[in-house]
Amino acid sequence: TSDARIDAISEVLNRTPFEAAATRPLSEIWACDVFNLATMEEALSKNAFKAMKKTVQTGEPLDPATADVVAAAMKDWAMGKGAKFFSHVFYPLTNITAEKHDGFIVTNSDGNAITEFTGSLLIKGEPDGSSFPNGSLRMTNAARGYTAWDPTSPAYIMQTANGATLMIPSVFMSWTGESLDKKIPLLRSNAAMDKAGRKVLSLMGETEIAPLNSSCGAEQEYFLVDRQFATARPDLLLAGRTLFGAPPAKGQEFDDHYFGAIPERVQVYMQDVEDTLYRLGIPAKTHHNEVAPGQFEIAPYYEAANVASDHQQLLMTVLKATALKHGFVCLLHEKPFAGINGSGKHVNWSVGNATQGNLLDPGSTPEENLQFLVFCGAVIRGVHLFGPLLRAVIATASNDHRLGANEAPPAILSVYLGDQLEAVYDDIASGKVASSSDGGLMDLGLAQILPFERDPGDRNRTSPLAFTGNRFEFRAVGSSQSVSGPLVALNTVLADSLEWMAEKLEAELGGGAELPEAVATILKEVMELHGAAVFGGDGYSSEWHEAAVKDRGLRNLPTSADALPVFTEPAVVELFESTGVLSAVELHSRYDVYAEQYINSVLVEAKLVVDLGKTVIYPAALGYLSELTGTYTAAGSFGATLDTSVATAIAQHSNGLLATVTALSAELAKEDFEDVEAHMTHIATTVRGLMDQARVHVDALECEVDDSAWPLPKYREMLFIK
Ligand code: ADP
Ligand code: MG
Repeated sequence: TSDARIDAISEVLNRTPFEAAATRPLSEIWACDVFNLATMEEALSKNAFKAMKKTVQTGEPLDPATADVVAAAMKDWAMGKGAKFFSHVFYPLTNITAEKHDGFIVTNSDGNAITEFTGSLLIKGEPDGSSFPNGSLRMTNAARGYTAWDPTSPAYIMQTANGATLMIPSVFMSWTGESLDKKIPLLRSNAAMDKAGRKVLSLMGETEIAPLNSSCGAEQEYFLVDRQFATARPDLLLAGRTLFGAPPAKGQEFDDHYFGAIPERVQVYMQDVEDTLYRLGIPAKTHHNEVAPGQFEIAPYYEAANVASDHQQLLMTVLKATALKHGFVCLLHEKPFAGINGSGKHVNWSVGNATQGNLLDPGSTPEENLQFLVFCGAVIRGVHLFGPLLRAVIATASNDHRLGANEAPPAILSVYLGDQLEAVYDDIASGKVASSSDGGLMDLGLAQILPFERDPGDRNRTSPLAFTGNRFEFRAVGSSQSVSGPLVALNTVLADSLEWMAEKLEAELGGGAELPEAVATILKEVMELHGAAVFGGDGYSSEWHEAAVKDRGLRNLPTSADALPVFTEPAVVELFESTGVLSAVELHSRYDVYAEQYINSVLVEAKLVVDLGKTVIYPAALGYLSELTGTYTAAGSFGATLDTSVATAIAQHSNGLLATVTALSAELAKEDFEDVEAHMTHIATTVRGLMDQARVHVDALECEVDDSAWPLPKYREMLFIK
């Protein structure tokens, strides 16, 4: 009711500020809730620690006896911190984090409570898999699943107001060994990339090659809205975004929020978030205001991809939970408000190892430059061959609102290298480099010129995937997404390209070519075949949208309905099978789950549009209309004639709204679709089209109806009151 909105405003204005505890020094809290190697070294015998360290660093399984010792030490440590329960934490195909809590408690025959935590309990858990979506895997194994400890990601304590729980990062798989989660493919994609990368490095003459791993640093954007407002907006509550809302008189046009002074209340919140993250060993590094009013960003320092991915999930949980404590709701949705910027998650990604360092860093010697050019060339090839896959892994109902919306990267996947690096590859492509007699590539002096690339002024903000000096920044990823899918895709296409490079290198070198010439020949081929994916211009422009498709043959996949079927394309199935990252069945199950999620998320929103349109907006509009008509009659009684244009507009838009939601209801009742693609297309076009149409009427009504009678908190209130 309109009272809910008015009440929300007055509650927000009269709230008592959150009493934040004084923050404690970093040295006191850093990783204090993490069972990491340092903690283990103290808690374990020398031998057990040695075995454990090897497992952490290589992923090699623990022997059962050591597992028992580690479990006992972990339990003692956790109980010392107040934990009575433990939980395997896992990452099902939804973007959520799942937990199943069990007590350490067992009772003995005397009825006394003792505690127990064995190696086998640590290593394996058995949640009921049937409540998690698993797509076509349902057919193969009645959806039974189990979780298994991933010792390469440390266990930690989750603190609540009156207790604590020991959390054990885990994989989640079916009894037949298929991955039901987002962690297993990430681990496998690292392994595939490691294998192929080592082949290439060894062909390039390296003799000592440490295991390769990928790294990830994810910048997270989010909105904060007062809890009272969110509660008074059923759309924010249930769908995470506003389905209606006229633009406020002031939006983000003054750029006065971006990097501006952080409102004190938000600063207190951020510090609270960061203290929690520090306890969990998550290296939160930067925070600032974002472009839109009410929008902020947090970015931790980068870590190994597997750990970064777990930490990213945890970070989203902490952001949301801490917000409630501070009287906010944290919105991770990609587009909570129309007309102002949405939120993304920039996934900064690089690959490297302990011996050769970051292989996406040009480095300072010609040898390093050469390795860099090969790895970077492999990325270019991968983006060109599998751009649509990179689009598919970021395809969600919510991210569709953002991609291609002139504030976020387009739905066409290209790669930005920066002027200097692009010029280097252009020279390679045109044969300028290979023809150089004295050492070819060695002469490029990349080491001197490439550091300029690191100037952030040189950033192309319109590119979905940008090289930023020593890493690629996948900017098109959605803010509410797990980073795992994008990382899996990047690692896997890189692995595939490195395998291709290795084969080519072997042939060239076997034919007697020197390394620099061999590399130049291969990179020339890469650029000839795949250079079309390199683009340094304005990704928002309509020229690009046309040229990318027409002249370069890149695919524009504007909606999830267009992008998700890419998971079923033979080349993509072959990519995942040949690299060992996902079997055909596992891949197809992802398609099923993501398609279903897409459909369900839009359906929830569409039902809300019908519901709110009919039961909240329509009555408010008619209520005001009846008030107006009463006034007109009353004015007539003393001979005055009032302008009735407002009433006419309200009548028109009320009728329009009613007709639209009636049509929408009818579309929602349809069920007999030929296949899931047809269903997705119906959702993307007809259903979304009618939702947009309903919104036009509602937003027009918001501009006509008496402010005090408007039932939903308005944009100006949600975005500007802090
Ligand atoms: P910007 O806002 O300029 O893009 P930030 O410094 O806010 O950059 O965030 C960049 C992110 O990239 C951080 O998480 C940072 O730790 C991460 N990062 C830096 N170097 C690498 C690298 N080599 N590999 C992966 N991530 C990196
Ligand atoms: Mg960035």
